Amino acid sequence: MFRLLDAVAPKVALPSLVPVLFLCGLSLPLPAAAEKVDFVVHVSVDGLRPDAVTILGHAGAPNFYRLRAEGAFTDNARTDADYLGTLPNHITQITGRGVAGVAGHNYGDNREPPPRRTLHSHKGSYLASIFDVVHDHGLSTALFTGKEKFRIFRQSYDCLNGAPDRIGVDNGRNKIDRYVYLEDSKQLLQEYLSAMRAAPFNYSLLHLHDPDSAGHQAYWDVTPGSEYMKAVQRVDRMLGELLRLIESDARLAGRTVLVLTADHGGTYGSNHTILDSRKNYTIPFYVWGAAVPAAADLYRLNRRTRLEPGTGRPPYSASRQPIRGGDVANLALELLGLGPIEGSTINHAQDLEVRGRPPGAAPPP
Ligand SMILES: [Zn+2]
Repeated sequence: MFRLLDAVAPKVALPSLVPVLFLCGLSLPLPAAAEKVDFVVHVSVDGLRPDAVTILGHAGAPNFYRLRAEGAFTDNARTDADYLGTLPNHITQITGRGVAGVAGHNYGDNREPPPRRTLHSHKGSYLASIFDVVHDHGLSTALFTGKEKFRIFRQSYDCLNGAPDRIGVDNGRNKIDRYVYLEDSKQLLQEYLSAMRAAPFNYSLLHLHDPDSAGHQAYWDVTPGSEYMKAVQRVDRMLGELLRLIESDARLAGRTVLVLTADHGGTYGSNHTILDSRKNYTIPFYVWGAAVPAAADLYRLNRRTRLEPGTGRPPYSASRQPIRGGDVANLALELLGLGPIEGSTINHAQDLEVRGRPPGAAPPP
């Protein structure tokens, strides 16, 4: 029932730009057009502080370090500007909208959602997501989560509440082809790996809750050997299995990009509720896979469009934004050769560069 991947038109017909560049007297060689990939694996590690990985080091977190060495990353991305809760930030990740304001998704509630609530009923209008765009183009989607409250996504994008598909072939209103909730992350990962081996999803969100759960029970204690750090190491081992899958499956190898981020960090003693604590609002953003340059700093790759925020917490009104967890949705769509989510505001221009220099950009110093 899905349309062939090749039926999706590339977003930019790069060769048509060549004569224009010659007319303008530019002699810079054009970078190779970044080919679209067929699969994006979006991993959200709940409550992951980027400095936990640094403290563990290569020996303690070899797979996170592999993502750093072979991919592009920053340890200084940002959550939503105003909310630090798990659900609000995951909704930001999948809709490309901040929480507050007219253009925001407005879902600041982090509690278990009532059974009939949807993101749309809460907002008062339909909230399109990455699941809509991918699914409406005939590609497959999945959400594997370790927290029951993520059913707000299933409730919002099921066969009753998802929007009619008006793009090409009608792929139906149910935008999430496979939804799995399992609290045990090891089991969740095995379910995910086996589903991917059976038929890989073009876009999948894998949510691993362990660091957050350990953080709430035993504080975000980044001393090696703490419960929190042990949970980060469990996630590291899971990452290893995920990387092995991508590399060993002929359908996935070389045609997949993995994007890893977090919904928030956390602080020893105050969990992750205090808005002006940089340990709460600082999150990692890693990109690894097909055509992603090795050991690249995402802020250096994006210095024309993003501003490294230091220790600050810039509002959405800042002219140059930090890299945010909310960049992931429209980035994933761009990687899949698809345009942005209708109504999204974060990375709507799909200008977060993760595969080398943008055309015309000066080389890094
Ligand atoms: Zn969380």
